[in-house]
Amino acid sequence: MLEKITPNILFMPAEARTDRPVLGLVFGKKKSFIIDAGNSPAHARQFIKKLSASRVPPPGLMGITHWHWDHTFGMSVWDIPTIAHTDTRKGLEALMEYSWDDESLDKRVEQGLEIEFCAEMIKKEFAWDRDQIKIELPEIIFPESLRIDLGGITCLIERVGGDHDSGSTVFYIPEDGVLFLGDCLGPELYAPKYYYSIDKFLELLEKIRGYGAEIYIGSHGDPESSEDLEREMEGWEKIARIIENRGKDWEGIMSQLKESLGRDPTPDDREMIEFFLNGLEIKEGE
Ligand SMILES: [Zn+2]
Repeated sequence: MLEKITPNILFMPAEARTDRPVLGLVFGKKKSFIIDAGNSPAHARQFIKKLSASRVPPPGLMGITHWHWDHTFGMSVWDIPTIAHTDTRKGLEALMEYSWDDESLDKRVEQGLEIEFCAEMIKKEFAWDRDQIKIELPEIIFPESLRIDLGGITCLIERVGGDHDSGSTVFYIPEDGVLFLGDCLGPELYAPKYYYSIDKFLELLEKIRGYGAEIYIGSHGDPESSEDLEREMEGWEKIARIIENRGKDWEGIMSQLKESLGRDPTPDDREMIEFFLNGLEIKEGE
């Protein structure tokens, strides 16, 4: 059985071992809507097995949060139309050119086209049969937003963008107050150093707050209450604003942040600072 989070929403939790993300299901009276395809056929089938034990209408449509492998490599198993942003389709089209054997993966890591962490996870998830990787393209492409009626339950699909991927899409179910975030709050990974850009990040936080959801589901963590996410977002916003004012003065940033938070910055805070500073560096180099 899938885990129930609100009356109309079920999910299967993320698994860190091979970076399997959360897969979601929203159902109304008529249809079930699936959020993300899984990181492999095996992952998708694990979800389908649990789904068949849950009493919900059959899946009729699927939405994809962004093109990264862990959200899309299960697509070939699903026999339902898939909805995605224009940039998600473009990202998948680019992947169709690639081979997935160890040598090709390692070469792309060297060339800066693939992330070392992702290559490692792909090798682990597809340890036995790399031929199972078949890139599928979404059938339904939307430019900014789309509203789906599942029979008394709405799924609002919107591109929010951000550093992680320009096509990052969120799924909001107003009747249940749940927002699926995908990886949209993550940094840009496809660069020499992971980074955030201050403007894009602050704009994204405002968009997320604008939904006024009660429960937030990020792809690689546990569901969070609005209070918990707001507390985190306040901390990130403080970091972004301090760096906006101080630039690359590490000592100054640390002491102002300590004062502002009323505690020592944690390793997570330090990592966040590093990613914002990487963003500044990349902007200067442009
Ligand atoms: Zn991602």
